[in-house]
Amino acid sequence: MPNLAEIKHSPPTYDGGIGLYLHVPFCQTKCPYCDFNTYAGIEDQISGYVRSLQDELIGWANVLGHPPVRTIFLGGGTPSYLPPADLEAIHQTIRDAFRVEDSAEITMECNPGDVTAEKAASWLASGVNRISMGVQSFDDELLGLLGRRHTAAEAKEAFKTLRKAGFVNQSIDLIYGLPYQSAKQWSDTLDKTIDLEPEHISLYSLQIEQGTPLAVDVEAGKYPIPDDDLAADMYEEAQTRLGENGFSQYEISNWSKPDMESRHNIIYWLNEPYLGVGPGAHSWLAGQRFANLRSPRRYTTIVGTDYENGAADPVSAMTSPAGPVEMVDITTPAIDVAETMMMGMRLNQGVTHERFEKRFGAAVDVIFPDEVARLTKLGLIDITKEAVLLSERGRLLGNEVFAEFIGDPDE
Ligand code: SF4
Repeated sequence: MPNLAEIKHSPPTYDGGIGLYLHVPFCQTKCPYCDFNTYAGIEDQISGYVRSLQDELIGWANVLGHPPVRTIFLGGGTPSYLPPADLEAIHQTIRDAFRVEDSAEITMECNPGDVTAEKAASWLASGVNRISMGVQSFDDELLGLLGRRHTAAEAKEAFKTLRKAGFVNQSIDLIYGLPYQSAKQWSDTLDKTIDLEPEHISLYSLQIEQGTPLAVDVEAGKYPIPDDDLAADMYEEAQTRLGENGFSQYEISNWSKPDMESRHNIIYWLNEPYLGVGPGAHSWLAGQRFANLRSPRRYTTIVGTDYENGAADPVSAMTSPAGPVEMVDITTPAIDVAETMMMGMRLNQGVTHERFEKRFGAAVDVIFPDEVARLTKLGLIDITKEAVLLSERGRLLGNEVFAEFIGDPDE
């Protein structure tokens, strides 16, 4: 059990800068494995959504007193599916309402099927300086199984078009552990990814999410349950191949070329303040975790335009019925220390002593003496001069390590 009496809690505040996440709840088609808060066939709601998103951005900027923005991430959903003029208007609103740092990383998730030279130029002109492309596989058969609306050749072409337009920071997302996926198919996908020379690669193992069409098909026996051992072999192969080709793994699912890590996602893993806007977006700031209502239609009817400048309690000011926030959890020091450990241990650098002690006023092994002793004895974590981090063995059993630190926050 953690020694909570030792905590002197000083979490980072939002006036030191935030990560800004924008949720775009539209997709041209819905992939059968996806359980994100995103919808196909509601394009008639796009213009209302864009207006409400702008109002929400202005509302937050007012109630928070226009904080600096370190990173922006447009995710979803499919931001690249929005009309370029709407994207430009959203970026302009952000620039007008917040203090966006000159060096801000501005990422947009992109579907290869949306990329044209004209759109690429307009995204770049609107300020986007990093693309995260959902390629998922370079095998057409598997892309069909995933219900993707692009082919492997189109994904390759899209990547090159973006490069030609001037994007020098591109990430490729891949999924492994798919039904019927062979080791050879995975190896070919890795080859084709490496050949494109992206700056960053994210790898996700397929999760069969309850209620999705894919889960129904797996349950009905149309597809086999993905083989965990084969998926683990694919992960290990990726670790070796990416390492041999100049990519450093810096997080459990993420690799990059030197200095090209995702700065936005690092904000999440370091448990630093971020604001999510748009339907269903999550946030952590002002000592609270909170989430917006999920329905795009309700979102457009609830977001208002009259939010107080520098509100004493900004989250309350943006909470329903006056604003889109619907769920609020106060983060106690016990929860914050557990979450900081759980997320920080995902990073290869681990939880650094310097950061931890600055935030909690004591060392990790002072606050978690039993947990650290047990995990060290099991060989699951290492303690170096700089940090507490997963050992090689701990990397394979990450969830067991995270569970040790989470415990019961109410105890
Ligand atoms: S494109 Fe992405 S967000 Fe949209 S349905 Fe497919 S996986 Fe989900």
